[in-house]
Amino acid sequence: MAEQFDLRGSGMTSQRARDRLVVSLKAQGIISTEVLNAIKNTPRHIFIDEALAHGAYENNALPIGYNQTISQPYIVAKMTELLLANKPLKKVLEVGTGSGYQTAILSQLVGKVYSVERIRPLQQRAKLRLQALQINNVMLQHTDGGMGLASYAPFDAILVTAAPDEVPAELLAQLAVDGIMVIPVGGSHQQELKVIHKKSATHYDTKIVEGVKFVPLLSGVID
Ligand code: SAH
Repeated sequence: MAEQFDLRGSGMTSQRARDRLVVSLKAQGIISTEVLNAIKNTPRHIFIDEALAHGAYENNALPIGYNQTISQPYIVAKMTELLLANKPLKKVLEVGTGSGYQTAILSQLVGKVYSVERIRPLQQRAKLRLQALQINNVMLQHTDGGMGLASYAPFDAILVTAAPDEVPAELLAQLAVDGIMVIPVGGSHQQELKVIHKKSATHYDTKIVEGVKFVPLLSGVID
């Protein structure tokens, strides 16, 4: 399935639009230069349907089909910044590939990203985009990520981009000691973004960062 992407963009999707987004993320408190550079260098418009691409560099979540959304750039930046506080990160698990945008940002900042998605058509589109960007340190898998990815555990960090009611025990188990997990937790109306630091096999230090709104973490897979 060959597909062309306008990687450079123009007008509303140009480099200038990305530069303006970086300025607004700084104003919102994102300070990591690495994260801001990755956002500056990644064409978010190719992760969005063409009809909506003109809004790619506004600070909004947008629909990507199948009732799912590409996360707001601020949230992508914030979660990535929180995760990198624990660097260097060699192996990172991302639960919820969605459009693949967060995956693309992460891949520029860590050794290898394992990203899982339960909806196959989303996963396949994400794969084409990452290929177009020549990103080669990502392994995508079509699976229910609530169970983690046991065969590749432990992970130095786990980033979850859909919200469960409770932190899944499988994910905690697959985090390396001294590893970090960034995860939205709560029901559909009220969720908290949590940072969980695994101090030992049984001890965790949890911090609540801010209120957030994510799509729910669902079980099972869709072909
Ligand atoms: N980081 C993505 C966010 C997409 S929304 C982006 O910015 O595009 C969250 C994604 O998590 C959706 O694509 C949804 O299908 C996926 N998801 C929800 N529950 C899941 C599960 N149990 N396993 C894997 N993916 C899941």
